[in-house]
Amino acid sequence: MFPLLLIFTFFSILAGGSFPVEVFFFDVGYGESILIRLPEDRHVLIDGGYPEYGARVVDEIKRLGVTRLDLVVSTHPHPDHIGGLAEVLNNFKVDRVIGSHPLTSDLLPEAFVSSIKNKNIPYKPGRRGEKLFESDELSMEIFHPAQVDEDLNNSSIGIRLKFKNISFLFTADISPRAEKELLLAGIPLQANVLKAGHHGHATLREFIEAVRPEIAVISVGENPYGAPLPETLELYQQLGIKILRTDQMGTIRLATDGLTLWNLTNPNKKP
Ligand SMILES: [Zn+2]
Repeated sequence: MFPLLLIFTFFSILAGGSFPVEVFFFDVGYGESILIRLPEDRHVLIDGGYPEYGARVVDEIKRLGVTRLDLVVSTHPHPDHIGGLAEVLNNFKVDRVIGSHPLTSDLLPEAFVSSIKNKNIPYKPGRRGEKLFESDELSMEIFHPAQVDEDLNNSSIGIRLKFKNISFLFTADISPRAEKELLLAGIPLQANVLKAGHHGHATLREFIEAVRPEIAVISVGENPYGAPLPETLELYQQLGIKILRTDQMGTIRLATDGLTLWNLTNPNKKP
């Protein structure tokens, strides 16, 4: 039904720069934190999990030998995403930060705002159409939101990364309302890897069919909200999409050379 790429799994590959693009979905319980390694040793962090996961995110990044982040993205000001970022900002040299809201917004936690101010890190809100990185082979672009409103999940910053033939869609906590908007706006959504919206909560079948991913990554931990929803898991299964979950596998690690996608997740990390 879908043009399937061969997905290889390697059980023991040493960390560090052997692939042009690597994506690490850290295990931060119910929350989200994703490190993206781009060519030329550039690194982007999307979100930092709850405040109590900040130290773990810092350790995970350091363990990968990273000392400087080219870009940190704060997708929206909910604590399971923005909470750990102050700790990250305090521990690394960060070139710039893009957030969902202006730095003057009351919605942003004080620790986050003061880290940015204390270290004089350039900050601005990110909106649809903004190119974060662009070269002949690679583009990283904000596809959502066009503007923010009081619905913070659906105001999340969404990012599409394309390297040669392989693409990733990072959707933060967008939900059916934003999915519908994106479909109506005719935004290009196709991606080999979809970071499932909002920890595997509700999603539209039409949206998933438009993305047509081979892999859906769900960033989730124990939670009282019932995530991921059984009907969402069933939808992915029906469409033949492989599900990778941080609560079952720990940190999920994917890599690509732009033609092939590798799943380098260590299957032994979590029982
Ligand atoms: Zn969330």
